[in-house]
Amino acid sequence: MTIIDLQIKAELLNVTALVPDEEETAYNWHFKMRCGSCNETTANFVTINSVEGNQISGSRGDANLVMRCKFCKREASASIVGKPVEYTDADSGKFVRILSLECRGLEPVEFEPRDGWTARGADSKTRFAIDLTEGEWYDYDEEAGLEVSVTEIEHRFERGRGPAKGAK
Ligand SMILES: [Zn+2]
Repeated sequence: MTIIDLQIKAELLNVTALVPDEEETAYNWHFKMRCGSCNETTANFVTINSVEGNQISGSRGDANLVMRCKFCKREASASIVGKPVEYTDADSGKFVRILSLECRGLEPVEFEPRDGWTARGADSKTRFAIDLTEGEWYDYDEEAGLEVSVTEIEHRFERGRGPAKGAK
C-alpha cells in the first residue's frame, strides 16, 4: 500500500478556497493509472470518488476504485484518504497537496480537473461554480467589483505524506 498525494499549482486572482464542490454529490476525480505489475498506463481516464465502494477480490475489503489491468490482468485498487484540501490564494504559484490516494498495485500518472469545482471571492462571500475543463477560468465578482480567475493549473504526484494525523 502506498500513499500518493496529488498536488496542484495555480494562479488565483481574487478568489480563494478552490476545491471540488461536494455539496450535493461526490466529485469524480479523473486519473490515468499505471499498473504496478506491468507498468502499462490505462488508455483512458478512470474515475474515482469518495463514496463509491467496490469489492476487492478474495474478501480483502473494499476500495473506491477496483480495476483489472487490461494488459497483465492483475487487480489493483485505490481509495481516497480523508477530504480534499482547499487551494487558497496564499498558495498561488506553489504546489500544494489537495488529495491523497491510498494505492494498491497502481499509481496515478495523469490528472484532469474537468468540471465541478468551487471557490469563493477572496474579499467577498460570492460563491463561484468553476469549470476547469479548459485549464483556466474567468468570471467577475459583482459584490467585490473585481475580475476573478484561476489560471496556469499544473499538477504533480508525490509519494507518501497524506493528510496530517487526525485529519479524516
Ligand atoms: Zn498490468
